[in-house]
Amino acid sequence: MRRLVVVLAAAAGLLVSCTSANHPSAATQSSLSTSLTSSASSAPVSTSAPPTTPSRASSAPKTVRTTARPPTTPRTSARPAPTTQIPQPTVSFPAGTGPVIALNPGHNGGNGSHSAQINRQVPAGFGEYKACDTTGTNTNAGYPEHAFNWDATLRIRTILQAHGVRVILTRPDDNGVGPCVDERARIGNQKGVAAVISIHSDGAPSAGHGFHVCYASRPPAGAQVDSQSRRLSTAVHDALGRGSGLVPSTYIGTNGYYPRSDLAGLNLASVPATFLELGNMRNGADASLLSSASGRQRIAAAVAAGILAYLGR
Ligand SMILES: [Zn+2]
Repeated sequence: MRRLVVVLAAAAGLLVSCTSANHPSAATQSSLSTSLTSSASSAPVSTSAPPTTPSRASSAPKTVRTTARPPTTPRTSARPAPTTQIPQPTVSFPAGTGPVIALNPGHNGGNGSHSAQINRQVPAGFGEYKACDTTGTNTNAGYPEHAFNWDATLRIRTILQAHGVRVILTRPDDNGVGPCVDERARIGNQKGVAAVISIHSDGAPSAGHGFHVCYASRPPAGAQVDSQSRRLSTAVHDALGRGSGLVPSTYIGTNGYYPRSDLAGLNLASVPATFLELGNMRNGADASLLSSASGRQRIAAAVAAGILAYLGR
């Protein structure tokens, strides 16, 4: 399967991105926190819901866009040479009548050894380009984020399936390369998908800990989908706060929410979508939780509970 995925990615010119953008360097993280702090007066502080007013939603991300962009992933990179976009196979829905949820486990186990493929520029929404994918982060003990993302995703899937939810994944295993962020978005955008949840864990300076929920600061699919994405984000955020063992982030965003303008998975989504950073892998306490099966089960149960709440099941 790995070989097939590699061949597909190479043939299609597809590669996914998220690491350098999702896991900025320590210096960038610091500037992110600083810029948010300085601009947080208009952002929500103690409520559980993300910003709901247009002024809030549009003001915070502007600061983020101008200060938070990792230097290695320019938002407006030069348009790369045209690539031949081979139509990608869709992921078949499981049989049944329940709602379909797409889970998107970030990165992949083979990304680290295929830098040329994952560094390739692909469409990232709003006419911008970014790397196909990234390698993700890891704990100080070496537990890789891609493995955590994959394990947590399978646990979430199991719980959702027990409640009659049909689940599709954006990658079939943890041994392949990519797929690229735009291909992942295409899988999630298939007709009939109720929502897309991207699963990640952060790699931030070790003093900070906790989860944060990212939502699009530039809603790509209109007010109705944006409203649903906010509701999804809130449902998962609240469930994480209640039962995951992680607290709302102490180092980034506001009360566990963090609007992003640079995530292709959100910028390309035509269906309700949210993007989760489930703890800081560089923090000792978070790493302990993420590295244990019981901790991952607890986190997965919280994410699943949030999704089920969103679905009304
Ligand atoms: Zn990640």
